[in-house]
Amino acid sequence: MKDNYSREINYLRLSITDRCNLACFYCQPRRDWQKLPASEIMQYEELLQAARAAITVGIRKIRVTGGEPLVRRGVVDFVRALHRLPGLEKVCLTTNGVLLADMARDLYAAGLRHLNLSLDTLNPERFRTITGRDHFAQVLAGLWRALELGFHPVKVNCVVLKDINDDELLDFARLARDLPLQVRFIEFMPTISEERWARHFLPMSEVRRRLAVLGEMQTLGRRPTSGPAHLVRPAGFQGELGFINPVSQHHCSTCNRLRLTASGRLRPCLFSQREIDLKGPLRQGASLADLARLFEQAVKAKPSLPEPRISTEALSSCPMVGIGG
Ligand code: SAM
Repeated sequence: MKDNYSREINYLRLSITDRCNLACFYCQPRRDWQKLPASEIMQYEELLQAARAAITVGIRKIRVTGGEPLVRRGVVDFVRALHRLPGLEKVCLTTNGVLLADMARDLYAAGLRHLNLSLDTLNPERFRTITGRDHFAQVLAGLWRALELGFHPVKVNCVVLKDINDDELLDFARLARDLPLQVRFIEFMPTISEERWARHFLPMSEVRRRLAVLGEMQTLGRRPTSGPAHLVRPAGFQGELGFINPVSQHHCSTCNRLRLTASGRLRPCLFSQREIDLKGPLRQGASLADLARLFEQAVKAKPSLPEPRISTEALSSCPMVGIGG
């Protein structure tokens, strides 16, 4: 359905857990942030009912995210069940890849094809510095496995962090030269600490300037799967590069998404603290039509623009690990 600003809202990001097997310094919440008790996390049947209601108001694409979605037991069956929902055209999953090598075959058999893999460095030691864990080899094995099995599109999401990984831009680009995948560079958002953000933020204009050495790049038009990324294909590349700049140039005018947090709250806009409780009504016996009305409310509550300044306060009130990115 259309929101108040004539945007067609057809994409729902579903966070199925706030747990993660990595502890990325820029994503991990403050120390005093409490993980949700298991009883507060939406059960799979509740998530499916929410998805059914979302479909009735025009949601056509669902992305399963987290936390890390692959740490939640039963995720493969859940992905299979999503694929069976009438009216849903696309199911995607975003993962850090740690468990992917072992689960990729089952996920593929469950119908999944669209995979986003988050990876910010190609250097194992640096991986440990960023994520706090020693799982680089597993992530890479997961990526190879996904390509081998024929997942498509495979998108590698790299958050660009000045003085941490910005010397690897060309290495990441070369992944897309040699492999049929999309490497997407993403601006660092001020979620956890404003001070850290100021230290490590690199605008996408600078990323593009540094990648200009790759030579001529064909600009690719917006495709249904391109999301907010500006896509290009440098000459001789098998894959593509994407640039996502939520900070330096927001994508509000083309925003088509809603988010459902792991705790069952609908979030109309990533950059606003406004949330609508879905889990409470669901647990009190709300009908499909009641739930659909909550989705409609969320669509109508989408602001036209982000709040004047993307504030750490707004974002850290429910960190990415809970919202799902
Ligand atoms: N665990 C899954 C993963 O790693 O893809 C899904 C959840 S994770 C929160 C989703 C995405 O949000 C990841 O690509 C992560 O890099 C990104 N993210 C988290 N905090 C961010 C920030 N401050 N700025 C930009 N991207 C961020």
